[in-house]
Amino acid sequence: MTDMDMNAAAFPFKKALRCSCPKCGKGRLFKGLLSLGYLKECASCALDYKRFDAGDGPAVMIMMLLGFVVMIAAVVVEFKYEPPFWVHVALWLPTTYLATVGMLKVGKSLMAAADYTYNAGIGVLDSSQDSSSQILDE
Ligand SMILES: [Zn+2]
Repeated sequence: MTDMDMNAAAFPFKKALRCSCPKCGKGRLFKGLLSLGYLKECASCALDYKRFDAGDGPAVMIMMLLGFVVMIAAVVVEFKYEPPFWVHVALWLPTTYLATVGMLKVGKSLMAAADYTYNAGIGVLDSSQDSSSQILDE
């Protein structure tokens, strides 16, 4: 088994998909159902969530993927059923909003799980690597 296989096996995908704490899997990661802000810490194991910063990574990926899917679906509905404009508004606005929030939560949760699993962070390098990879701080 290579190091890459061991890291893939240890990555907490289930915890990330449930949007729960990457360490214990019991505590919630987000403040509310539609909130995209992390809580301050895990209610179960007290893992500090302030270190997690997903940045714009999940947003860009989801915007491109979801924009393409919704646009294709809207075009298919338009050509197949020719509904009035208000049907498109009533159909695609809530669908896009809910899909965006749901996918952003999972994306941010995956980033937090990766951050925790690989001890990533700004200016933080893996201490188990050779010493030549730790020069970037200086
Ligand atoms: Zn926890």
